[in-house]
Amino acid sequence: MTWNVHIRYEGYERRREVGRHSRALSRTALCAFVLLAAFTVAGCQGSGGRPSASVRIGFALGTLVQVRAYAHGEQADKAVREAFARIEEVEALMSANVPSSDIAAVNRKAGGLPTRVAGDTLYVVKRAREYGDLSHGRFDAAIGPLVRLWGIGTDHAKLPSPEEIAAARSLVDYRDVEVDESAGTVRLRKAGMALDLGAIAKGFAADRAAEALVNRGVRSAFIDLGGNILVVGSRPDGSPWRVGIQDPWKERGATFAVVPVRNMAVVSSGTYERFFEQGGKRYHHIIDPDTGYPAETGIVSATVLARHAVDADALSTTVFLLGPSDGMKLITRLAGVEAVVVTDDRQVIISPGLRGVIEISTGWTVRFYGLEDVQES
Ligand code: FAD
Ligand code: MG
Repeated sequence: MTWNVHIRYEGYERRREVGRHSRALSRTALCAFVLLAAFTVAGCQGSGGRPSASVRIGFALGTLVQVRAYAHGEQADKAVREAFARIEEVEALMSANVPSSDIAAVNRKAGGLPTRVAGDTLYVVKRAREYGDLSHGRFDAAIGPLVRLWGIGTDHAKLPSPEEIAAARSLVDYRDVEVDESAGTVRLRKAGMALDLGAIAKGFAADRAAEALVNRGVRSAFIDLGGNILVVGSRPDGSPWRVGIQDPWKERGATFAVVPVRNMAVVSSGTYERFFEQGGKRYHHIIDPDTGYPAETGIVSATVLARHAVDADALSTTVFLLGPSDGMKLITRLAGVEAVVVTDDRQVIISPGLRGVIEISTGWTVRFYGLEDVQES
C-alpha cells in the first residue's frame, strides 16, 4: 500500500511516495532541510475515503523532530501542528538552556527559595526522582553541574581536571531535589546545584505530542524526536510499525534490528551520538554521578520499549548506566517493558519478551537474557 504525501517547504514543492518499503525521507535530505529552517509537509486527501497523511519536520529539543500522522479530512494537518506546539511547550518549560524556562528558574534559585513550576515540569521532575530511586542514584536529574562542566555536544566540550570534577560531583544528588506537589514547587537544596532533564524530557515531549494527535482523532502516527520513537496505533494498513535500532558502529540511519510495534515507544541511549575524542579516548554524554566521568559499563547502546516514551527515555539511560546485567535485571522486573542492549564486544542481549518478535541482521551474537542459549544471527 502506498500513500501520496505532498511535501511543501520554503516555497519549493515536490511530491514523493511514502510506501510500505520506502523510508519517508532520507536523512541527508532532512539535514539539508533543517539548514533551510523548519518546514511543513502538508497532507493531501487520499482518494476513496482513505486517511490523508501529514508530515512535519523541524528542529526542537536540540534535535531533528519528525511527526507523521494519518487522519481523515483536515484533521491530520491540524493534529500535527498541535503535536509540534506541545513539543515546543515542553522545550520552553524544561530546557536548561532557555533562560525563561522553569528549569532555568529552579537552577538560578538553587540553595534559596522554592520555585513555582508548571504541572508538566513538576510531573517530569517527580518521575526523574523516581528513576533516581529505581537506579540507586545512577540516573540523577541533578547531573547539571557535571553536564555543564564537560560540555559534551557543545563547541566548548573539554576534559575537565580531577579537581573540577570533584567540585561538580559534590553538587550532584537527586535526593537534594525537593518536590512539593501541593505547593507546585521545586527546590534545589544547595547553591550551585542544577537540574538537567536531558535524559527524560524528550520522552515526555513525545507523549504529549501523541496525546495531541489522539485527541484530534489520529489513530495512526509516527513521532521521531532525534531517534526517540513513539508510534500511535498501527500503520494505516493495520500492520505494525517497524522501528529500526541503530547499529552503533555504522552511519546514522543504518540499523541492525527491527521491532514490529503498535502503541509503543522505542528509545535508545548510546555512546555514538554525542561525544568528543581526546588522546584516542571517546568521552560521551552519559555521566556516572559517582565518578563524574562518562559511564563505562560495557554498553554501547541500550534501547528500551515501553508504552510511554517518558519511561522508555528514562529507562534507556538507566539501563546504560546500570550495565548489561543489572540493567536487564531491572527491565525483567518491570511489566510491559523490553530492552535490547549492545555491548562493546558486539554482543546483543535482549529481554525474553522480544523472543520471536525482534528481527536481527546477520553477523551478531545474540542472547536472550535469562535463557541459556546463545545464537549467531
Ligand atoms: P539520553 O541517554 O536520553 O540522555 C543523556 C542526557 O541526559 C545527557 O546529555 C545529559 O543531558 C543527561 N544525563 C547525563 N548523565 C545523566 C545521568 N547520570 N542521569 C540523568 N541524566 C543524565 N541539545 C542541544 O544541543 N541544544 C539545545 O538547546 C537542547 N535543548 C534541549 C531541551 C530539552 C528540554 C531537552 C530534553 C533536550 C535538549 N537538548 C538540547 C538535547 C540534550 O542536551 C541531550 O543531548 C539529549 O536530551 C540527550 O538525549 P539522548 O536521547 O541522546 O540521551
Ligand atoms: Mg534517556
